[in-house]
Amino acid sequence: MRFTTGAIRVEPDRKHVVLPRLGRLRLHESARKLARRVEAGTARIMSATVRRDGGRWHVAFTVQIDRTDRRPAQPGSVVGVDVGIIHLAVLSTGELVPNPRHLHGAQRVLRRLGRGLSREAGPDRRAGARPSRRWHRARARLGRAHARVANLRRDGLHKLTTRLAREHGTIVVEDLNVSGMLANRRLARHIADAGFAELRRQLAYKAGWNGGRLIVADRWFPSSKTCSGCGTVRTKLALAERTYTCATCGLVLDRDLNAARNLAALAGEAVDARSGRESPNGRGADRETPLAGQVAVKRQPGTAPAGQTGTVPPQGRTTNHILTRAH
Ligand SMILES: [Zn+2]
Repeated sequence: MRFTTGAIRVEPDRKHVVLPRLGRLRLHESARKLARRVEAGTARIMSATVRRDGGRWHVAFTVQIDRTDRRPAQPGSVVGVDVGIIHLAVLSTGELVPNPRHLHGAQRVLRRLGRGLSREAGPDRRAGARPSRRWHRARARLGRAHARVANLRRDGLHKLTTRLAREHGTIVVEDLNVSGMLANRRLARHIADAGFAELRRQLAYKAGWNGGRLIVADRWFPSSKTCSGCGTVRTKLALAERTYTCATCGLVLDRDLNAARNLAALAGEAVDARSGRESPNGRGADRETPLAGQVAVKRQPGTAPAGQTGTVPPQGRTTNHILTRAH
């Protein structure tokens, strides 16, 4: 349910919101960050959307925000990011970003509940059978577990993307989740793909906010098959090979780290291809300076242009809040 007119506001106690028709609703957690911005005049609530997901009610506000210009801590720094399953991500800096705590446990629960659901008597149209009450309960449990896995992973991704966007001037990711294809188990694959799409979405707008840029590698770029040491491209790389071994230069490196380094190396080429000239200091990323003084423009989440142009995209965002029972 979406509200675009009428009085939408956060109560002074920051624990309640008022929506048209629904009235005063209690929030599960404080909306202090949003309230602070509204009170300071740097944010204006445009609309509110109420939906039910994973057994919880949520309200999402679309907000116009005035943001101050930011610069990454290291504007000339480039980082390649390879998203995986075993790790949340592998960075070209050599850092292995672990999955959020409890994620593996939550995934195990997910598989168990999935098996449990399949044992219950579900709907059968040919037999005209309605699903049993136990089936409904099992399905609700599975839905909540799915939401929890998605939440854990999204939270981990937010922490990662915020850190990357604040630190590095240039972030390079793949166009497709190539390393995610490693795991052919359907569940793991599905979760990694969802995480990959989310990572790119977050990096696109956060790079813009922080004055950096996001480069998306061409989908045919062989990030996994290329040697990050000498550039030799292998014709074949078995899915099970976790270590990249180069017959030409003798490089032996973790497969994902090799891919991440190849992605990072793309940054220089991307700059050269676009501008056709070298920057004075020879470091292309330094020339990607953000444009000053932007005015907030409303946009839907997920449609922000990738920060490839080096300009700051229109600023707008959605904040999500969990609702408790209405009072
Ligand atoms: Zn090599």
